[in-house]
Amino acid sequence: MTVTVATLGFPRIGPRRELKFALEKYWSGQTSLADLQETASGLRTAAWARQQAGGVDWLPSNDFSLYDHVLDTSVMLGAIPARYAAITDATELYFAMARGTTAGEDGCGHGHGSLTACEMTKWFDTNYHYLVPELTAGQRLTPGRAKIVDDYREAKAAGYETRPVLLGPVTWLTLAKGRGIDPFDLLDTVLDRYAAILAELAAAGVEWVQIDEPVLVLDLDERQRRALTRAYAKLARQSVKIMLATYFGSLGDNLSFAANLPVAGLHVDLVRAPEQLQPLLQAAPKSLLLSLGVIDGRNVWRADLAALLDRIEPVAATRDIVIAPSCSLLHVPVDLALERGLDREVTQWLAFAAQKVAELAVLKRALNEGRESVPDALELASRAAANRRTSPLIHDPAVAARIDAATPAMRERRSGHAARTAAQAGVLGLPPFPTTTIGSFPQTAEVRKARAEHGRGNIDDAAYDAFLREETARTIRWQEEIGLDMLVHGEFERNDMVQYFGERLSGFAFTTGGWVQSYGSRCVRPPILYGDVSRPAPMTVEWWRYAQSLTDKPVKGMLTGPVTILNWSFVRDDQPREASCRQIALAIRDEVLDLEAAGCKAIQIDEAALREGLPLNRRDWQHYLDWAVDCFRLTAAGVADATQIHTHMCYSEFNDILPSIGAMDTDVISIETARSQMELLEGFARYRYPSAIGPGVYDIHAPRVPTEAEMVALVRLAQQHLRPEQLWVNPDCGLKTRKWDEVKPAIAAMVAAARTLRATP
Ligand code: GLN
Ligand code: ZN
Repeated sequence: MTVTVATLGFPRIGPRRELKFALEKYWSGQTSLADLQETASGLRTAAWARQQAGGVDWLPSNDFSLYDHVLDTSVMLGAIPARYAAITDATELYFAMARGTTAGEDGCGHGHGSLTACEMTKWFDTNYHYLVPELTAGQRLTPGRAKIVDDYREAKAAGYETRPVLLGPVTWLTLAKGRGIDPFDLLDTVLDRYAAILAELAAAGVEWVQIDEPVLVLDLDERQRRALTRAYAKLARQSVKIMLATYFGSLGDNLSFAANLPVAGLHVDLVRAPEQLQPLLQAAPKSLLLSLGVIDGRNVWRADLAALLDRIEPVAATRDIVIAPSCSLLHVPVDLALERGLDREVTQWLAFAAQKVAELAVLKRALNEGRESVPDALELASRAAANRRTSPLIHDPAVAARIDAATPAMRERRSGHAARTAAQAGVLGLPPFPTTTIGSFPQTAEVRKARAEHGRGNIDDAAYDAFLREETARTIRWQEEIGLDMLVHGEFERNDMVQYFGERLSGFAFTTGGWVQSYGSRCVRPPILYGDVSRPAPMTVEWWRYAQSLTDKPVKGMLTGPVTILNWSFVRDDQPREASCRQIALAIRDEVLDLEAAGCKAIQIDEAALREGLPLNRRDWQHYLDWAVDCFRLTAAGVADATQIHTHMCYSEFNDILPSIGAMDTDVISIETARSQMELLEGFARYRYPSAIGPGVYDIHAPRVPTEAEMVALVRLAQQHLRPEQLWVNPDCGLKTRKWDEVKPAIAAMVAAARTLRATP
């Protein structure tokens, strides 16, 4: 039996973020469309060359995108929202949907006025964001040019036979938002378009296509199942063979349904759901080509190849199989070989996209020619795995002992809400409708430049420190002048709310070039959590102490919570996520207690990413929420009654997780409500949320400065749902992305709004 290797998609951004820089230059008018296309074409060709040289038999095409593959699909189907109707140029239209346009400068001087971009949201449970397809009543689909055919031809002309990748019709319809229309009403029109594309591809010489239907790992309703049946009955009639790709989880109840769709191949994720292999082998007809996603496409760990072979060899003995990463490699950095300065021991545990391709090549050879054909590669992988199991860099007995010693009492505040509120009121002496901000103040070009120069060694520690102190002092003075009640130090010393802490905790590594696409041209470099976590020394106490020394008003201590640190990192795969989270919780708890001991009266623990860690399937939510809340409480609950615990969350969908938000047992929560006009407060009211809430009254995501009257009106709306003494007045997120000349008038108006509210309650 033969084993072949596939990749479902390769990172688009380029090994050195070439696509990002090319896009930004094009958008700013420094380069032409031809320049951008040349870079893009170079990146595609380099990716094919690299994968082919690495031993990939099934090269993907159309996995590349100038911005986003879901947007590409919407354009392919001609699902263009009416507001862009005046834009006739295809490239201009594409970027208008992706980024919006500003009146007077849309790049081409045509002046379409200001158009909002399509909404963006997270792709399943990843940190990649896609542009949400928009459908309205009476929507006509006016298909655009099929980029997929062009990309296939481009590859072929360059000497590469590829398997084009298409986002599946049912996943696209599931992700679409309909206004006055059920997206599934368009199923037949959409399927006609897919069938036409497949026919075009067949005419161009395509033998196989990969169609991605990650919805198959979700709980499907009847409508989705019917749509899948209908879709693949129709598409299977075309003369190209379909490899139906599922990923990000187990097929679960959909397993035999998926295995019996009339497609030629099925890809499954055996990293997230190894247990589905046996049932799949039972359910799959002999004629179905199985593609086994055995290498982790979502994480950066090197695989233990011999252990994988133990599992795959028996399968490969009975049928032809494809082996592949679990999902597209879009979610991991490109090449570990470009890293400088990572610890050598840590490096040998890692594999980025290029290394994952190499791992697949070794597996293929071992399966086709026997393990003895690749003894060295298997030995190295086994040794790295063994080293990881025992390395003192990872396993810290002191951390394990602390985890074992953590008691239920450590998760409980000493008293309930009423007693705490009274104790805190005595210490803090705040007015009704207290005003505060979420933590960061503008990270100006000057601040970023000083950080970069310090990083390069051009500014020494003392000079950098003096610069940051001056920024902090100025910000404290300004907050006092403007009349805020609870101050913050401004977070000028922080590059990022997770990285700052990761760099100061043991157990985290940072790459120099491990970029992963977040959306469009935006990339992030997630920390790599590889070992047991502890906090060697206080991380924020000196900044807090300095800021508090400058004022009599209370200054909040400012920390990032354990769940958010976990959710924004590449995390260990050798223990459950919750075990890693609990270690981070204990480390941040140390910081909470040190802040309190230094005299801090209010400590904010941000959990910006708590909601986005929710598992894909609802049945798994409660387990996640339970350990996430437990970790938060372990972090926060050690303080005295008089110490006020705040948290901040960057979103506004709480209604389905309110009991868990309540169980976090904070004293004050600030949330993002400015755009949803306080709607969600109804939920808090219905749930009888006991503590204080700062519903964001200033939408910091737009440059616009809100008026005092607007903010008064928002708090009045909030008062319809909550008791006045429950309410705080604050912006809806940190101010780091704004400019001082936007922030100053906005916060001044916010303070004025609070005064108005106090005067006329
Ligand atoms: N304290 C952080 C800030 O103000 C919170 C940011 C966030 O929640 N994303 O920037
Ligand atoms: Zn926020």
